[in-house]
Amino acid sequence: MTKINSIAVLTSGGDAPGMNAAIRAVVRAGIFNKMKVFGVMRGYEGLISGNFKEMVSRDVSNIIQTGGTILKTARSKEFHEIEGRKKAYNKLKRAGIDALIVIGGDGTLRGARQFTNEFNIPVIGMPGTIDNDLWGTDYTIGYDTALNTVVEAVDKIRDTAASHNRLFFVEVMGRDAGFLALRSGIACGAEAILIPEKETHLDQLKSYLEKGKKKRKSSSIIIVAEGDDAGGAFEIAKKVKKDFSDYSIRVSILGHIQRGGRPSAFDRVMASRLGVAAVDALLDDQKSIMVGMQNREIVHVPFNKTIKYHKGINDSLLVTADILTI
Ligand code: ATP
Repeated sequence: MTKINSIAVLTSGGDAPGMNAAIRAVVRAGIFNKMKVFGVMRGYEGLISGNFKEMVSRDVSNIIQTGGTILKTARSKEFHEIEGRKKAYNKLKRAGIDALIVIGGDGTLRGARQFTNEFNIPVIGMPGTIDNDLWGTDYTIGYDTALNTVVEAVDKIRDTAASHNRLFFVEVMGRDAGFLALRSGIACGAEAILIPEKETHLDQLKSYLEKGKKKRKSSSIIIVAEGDDAGGAFEIAKKVKKDFSDYSIRVSILGHIQRGGRPSAFDRVMASRLGVAAVDALLDDQKSIMVGMQNREIVHVPFNKTIKYHKGINDSLLVTADILTI
């Protein structure tokens, strides 16, 4: 068993609310276990350039409630290349750092697996992405907050939709995954939910809208995940408009407001638990795993598995949505 005296933590990929709570937990759990903890700036970029500094407990005071990440984040092309990863390893060794904790999404964990395989340095991953698309964990840090942000925004759009008898297509984030769209759609009582995991049949959507028209519905909200196969909210709205020229149709792309904001209590607690678990995992001699949450309990998921398997959408949620959107 290798003794770990010094660790580094970074955030990478897209920012997600709760990343600060995760950093805080790693820093404090590390110090609690008599380790030195270094914060790496700008994800793998900072690892390659050696942009890191030792953190004390006070450095993470008053951040648990803030969105974004105090360590900043980046997407690093250089880390995709072995030369870049070699530089990163050398910088870590020179600073006497024994292990690394990374907080990010699928790409971040792929990079982490590559790095630990090549250089035999323990790396623990924490799932941090608003997309919730990582296999092996029920939730990712940031997803719950983003979900609540979407719900709040769509509730406001509903007021306008109802006041003007309008049909709104609301596009939410999710290029490859419909988790945000499906749950927010259920939570907002959307009339239809279009996600990448399910083929979109425009005919079905149109016949549904036809029925709504006959029933004199005062408003309709269609939630569209940005990766939907029918081409995104603008494209679908254009196609629908052809057959419903008398409808007042509007499109709203929620965009980057979904990433920011104060993390929800759920995200703060989960990030705190996962941060402590990540440090514990290093003490238990773990080397190449993501700490995740299944049925509200902490789990260790090998990088190989979380990267290899695809997290599917929950079928019972799909059924619920189908029943309630008629
Ligand atoms: P999000 O889900 O928010 O997009 P992410 O972690 O998936 O977050 P990416 O941009 O895909 O975001 O990945 C973050 C960084 O991880 C990349 O910029 C790159 O530096 C590194 N990375 C991704 N894939 C690999 C890989 N196969 N090998 C080495 N490094 C990688």
